[in-house]
Amino acid sequence: MTLTIDEMAAFCKRKGFVYPSSELYGGLAGLYDYGPYGTELKNNIKSLWWNYHVQSREDIVGIDGSIISHQGIWKASGHLDAFSDPMAICTKCKHKDRIDTLIEEKTNLPTDGLSMKELNELVKEHKIVCPHCKGAFQELQDFNLMFPVQVGADTSSKGTAYLRGETAQLIFTNFKLVAENSRLKLPFGIAQMGKAFRNEISPRNFLFRLREFEQMDIEYFIHPKQKCPFLKEVENCTLQVYTAEDQEKKKKPTFLTVQKILSKKIMTDWHAYWLAYEHEWFTKLNVNPKNLRVRQHLKKEKSHYALDTWDLEYNFPFGWKEVEGIANRTDYDLKAHSKHSKKDLSIFDEQTKEKIIPHVVAEPSLGVDRSFLIFLLDAFHDDKKRGNILLKLHPRLAPVKAAIFPLVSNKEELTKKARTVYTILKDSVPCTYDKGGSIGRRYARQDELGTPYCITIDFDSLKDDTVTIRERDSTDQKRIKISELKPFILDKLS
Ligand code: ATP
Repeated sequence: MTLTIDEMAAFCKRKGFVYPSSELYGGLAGLYDYGPYGTELKNNIKSLWWNYHVQSREDIVGIDGSIISHQGIWKASGHLDAFSDPMAICTKCKHKDRIDTLIEEKTNLPTDGLSMKELNELVKEHKIVCPHCKGAFQELQDFNLMFPVQVGADTSSKGTAYLRGETAQLIFTNFKLVAENSRLKLPFGIAQMGKAFRNEISPRNFLFRLREFEQMDIEYFIHPKQKCPFLKEVENCTLQVYTAEDQEKKKKPTFLTVQKILSKKIMTDWHAYWLAYEHEWFTKLNVNPKNLRVRQHLKKEKSHYALDTWDLEYNFPFGWKEVEGIANRTDYDLKAHSKHSKKDLSIFDEQTKEKIIPHVVAEPSLGVDRSFLIFLLDAFHDDKKRGNILLKLHPRLAPVKAAIFPLVSNKEELTKKARTVYTILKDSVPCTYDKGGSIGRRYARQDELGTPYCITIDFDSLKDDTVTIRERDSTDQKRIKISELKPFILDKLS
């Protein structure tokens, strides 16, 4: 039986990963708080992403832009005019719902890129009614997703700013300064990680669709004629590919290597590189490649700014859905900001000796919260033999890396020795000390948090300074000297 998203939400609340926000006061839809273990896991996801995409690369630097941002940014980007979803309002109970999602749920038909007229027709044809009271819907309307905020005492529309609807725009508005300060030559990328806000009409599916969420984003700039120099690194990577043509012909996706993808001219070299690079980030962190696929946007689904877009999708309990969008945004954004701000955003390209507005050939834009959900869903095993949940999280993602137990809690020599081991480890290995309950119960508690190592201090430890270390997935146990514990665990984490 596959886990439902509601069961995952309940598990996350029970184990201290994620709580519904403001629950004391009845809660607010689309907002969640991360608990002690969720915060650690989320921080690990973010630091591993930053390390893989920024610190370990010569060609990408990072920024951290403000969340409240000038209305001019969102006018230029098109968000104020066109960042909206189709909304249905019930004629009877006035319930508001996002109609494209509702149609997909009721009919299984894809709705991406459909016009308001086409959506209205589908509502009539499939007799879609209010899920709460079965009342009929009014004529559909657009609902803008941007969150306005009033800045300072100016209550006129001039004082209106916006919570950023995506992290990407702050990269574009800082582009020229970053390019100058970092002295990078094309091709290069600018990365950013942080909160984004969308006033979603009907948030649902736990962390999948939120009103406040985090994005990890890169804008990768090139001279439009530049070829991708990194293909060798990914040419043998295999992706499950779902082209627009295959979707239209109702065919199934196919597994292809990057080499094959390029020889069949399915996408550009840059798109193939970035999709494979992103796919590898997940698979290196233990996500099963069978649960990942790359899907091309249909023509009518593409955003107004995009030449071509591919999504990295995951097989969620509620179907294949986007985790990361990788769009070729061309020079659309830099040109739009140049036009609206009347500032020159072109840079000098050393190679061609021309002044150009670079093109964003790929914009890998990944949600932190959706990644969090994927890592948990993929790691979740209901281990009937053990009689508890086993979270097979990659050790580098695990919120706690090691748990230290005295064999029994009522022998002072043992608890003292166990506290000493805990003190030795805790400055470099996130660990926990637990003396409550039987050893079996304590193992189970750690399995459910995904802790890769449990260390037990027993009576032999008092004689020979060795301990038992138990590995989470295999449950294999071995004796190891206390002095070797720290290098052993650090080696496994590296
Ligand atoms: P969707 O089609 O699911 O609404 P999108 O195409 O609007 O997503 P993008 O604007 O491409 O999403 O944002 C990039 C990434 O940010 C998404 O792939 C997703 O991981 C994350 N994201 C976007 N909207 C939300 C949201 N409301 N809640 C949680 N994560 C989100």
